[in-house]
Amino acid sequence: VPLRDIANQPRAVAILAGALKNDRVSHAYLFAGPEGADKEGCARAFVQALACERVSPDACGACDGCRRVAAGSHPDVTWILSEVERLERKLIGRSDLEGAPSREIKIGQIRELQSRLSLTPLVMRRKAAVIVDADRMTAPAQNALLKVLEEPPAGSTLILISSAPDVLLPTVRSRCTRISFAPPTLRAVAEAIGRERKLDPEAATLVARLSGGNSRLAAGITPKELEFRKQVVVAIDELPRDARMALRLGEEFGESRDGAETVLEIATSWFHDVAVAASSESDARSASVHVDMADRAVAAGKRFGAMEALRRYDLCVEALDAISRNGSPRLHLEHALLRMVYP
Ligand SMILES: [Zn+2]
Repeated sequence: VPLRDIANQPRAVAILAGALKNDRVSHAYLFAGPEGADKEGCARAFVQALACERVSPDACGACDGCRRVAAGSHPDVTWILSEVERLERKLIGRSDLEGAPSREIKIGQIRELQSRLSLTPLVMRRKAAVIVDADRMTAPAQNALLKVLEEPPAGSTLILISSAPDVLLPTVRSRCTRISFAPPTLRAVAEAIGRERKLDPEAATLVARLSGGNSRLAAGITPKELEFRKQVVVAIDELPRDARMALRLGEEFGESRDGAETVLEIATSWFHDVAVAASSESDARSASVHVDMADRAVAAGKRFGAMEALRRYDLCVEALDAISRNGSPRLHLEHALLRMVYP
């Protein structure tokens, strides 16, 4: 993907494209921004532009240089990843490791990088390296990197990627040109989820909303959890007609703190939707968390109105608060549910 096709990050793209165009590429960059902002895709595009064999400043995507960067096999480009990350991407197998895979980026990896950067590039005009989740570097690794940053090898560009840049040593941060990435829009997260998990747009939007737009959380939401959420919403929505349901839910999910909290969190977001739907039907479709049940939320909103939805919302929040302060999960879950039935 060339830099010009990176979506939703016009500012970052403009700075990097300007550097390429004016041949003022920095020795070190820090790509900082939240999870899901596609910092790594942008780094790949930037490195591709550096490696492209055509004359234009952006990547052509078709030459040998571009293709090798895309495939991760360019001899002048180094990617630094933790063992956990390499395992996840199937770059190594479990049998390649002696112990448990490490989440850290270690000093040995940085030393190796240092010696690679000191060699003359084979194909490109400059050598490039990308450190993914740079905040995973151990303190010794960061200190080793600091030496590289203090005396950058001629014709080299380092890109540090991080969603938690504050974890990095200030001295490391201050020697990098910082490029800030904007949080991804809900729509961008939904589109990415749809592509990755082959979900239809409605399901992808639902997962994006449930995760609050956090792509890492979204990746962990399973179809089973989606179904469970639906069952909980239906049970809670039908409470006014059946008090026994309150006790049954309390018994079933009050056994553990996790269970009670999950039910109360689902209920909280559900009554949020109902309150919104009671105020505005069109908002219910655009702003609902449980976007697949917007019709149900509209019906519930008509049935008991915004004030009652908010009262129930408050009951859930109070119960969650009490449980977080070590209150009995079953007692507080039951109490909240019963007070929905008997105001
Ligand atoms: Zn190219």
